[in-house]
Amino acid sequence: MVDCGFSHRQTVLRMTEQDVNPQTVCGILITHEHGDHIKGALKCSRNFAAPVLATAGTISGGGLESLQTRTVRCGETIEHEGFAVTPIKISHDTKEPCAFLVEVAAVRTFFATDIGTLDGLDFQLLRDLDYLFVEANHDEEMLRAGPYPYFLKQRIVGDGGHLNNGQCGDLIKILAAGSPNLKGIMLAHLSDKNNDAGVALAAVKERVGVLDGVCWVLARQDGAALLGCQVSLKTRPRP
Ligand SMILES: [Zn+2]
Ligand SMILES: [Zn+2]
Repeated sequence: MVDCGFSHRQTVLRMTEQDVNPQTVCGILITHEHGDHIKGALKCSRNFAAPVLATAGTISGGGLESLQTRTVRCGETIEHEGFAVTPIKISHDTKEPCAFLVEVAAVRTFFATDIGTLDGLDFQLLRDLDYLFVEANHDEEMLRAGPYPYFLKQRIVGDGGHLNNGQCGDLIKILAAGSPNLKGIMLAHLSDKNNDAGVALAAVKERVGVLDGVCWVLARQDGAALLGCQVSLKTRPRP
């Protein structure tokens, strides 16, 4: 599981809706300590008997020390229950945020959310990807004209904030160029005040251009969405 921003109850509900047994979760990767990424982490980690994998900064920043944890370091790959997990350094206004490259059964997926700027991303590590989960947080114009207070708007557009639709498109374009077998892209972390699914998809596709054979999916805040295949690993049988 990557991030755990819903309550334990909501998390179980949404997984069950998609026929995913919560007891098959063998680890919870946490990108950073903002509430929309760790809200359910304490209870889910205990209930699923799954350790939290996060950087030292995220573990301390999120108060996750009481859990079973594995500390990860940006740029270093670890093996966890059949998954190869590589945290990727990113820019966001928390202690030690990261994105995650996860490889399992020769399927490589990059989970990239809450990124203020593409500067400094290690694209050398991000090649031959099969699936992308990328933040398309806001439309610049909707944010500018929207209801958020000035300081919050400045935070969102800053280097410690979030990717707008155009930046999301730029990121996907770069990653797709090094990933000839790319199969699916999920746009995620859309702001419900400062973005719109149709606007986001159109803006991103305009930057990216045509990608043959790639399935596009939009993540929703009010329910679950599935991206491409489900890789089922039975390395850890559960009751
Ligand atoms: Zn955040
Ligand atoms: Zn967030």
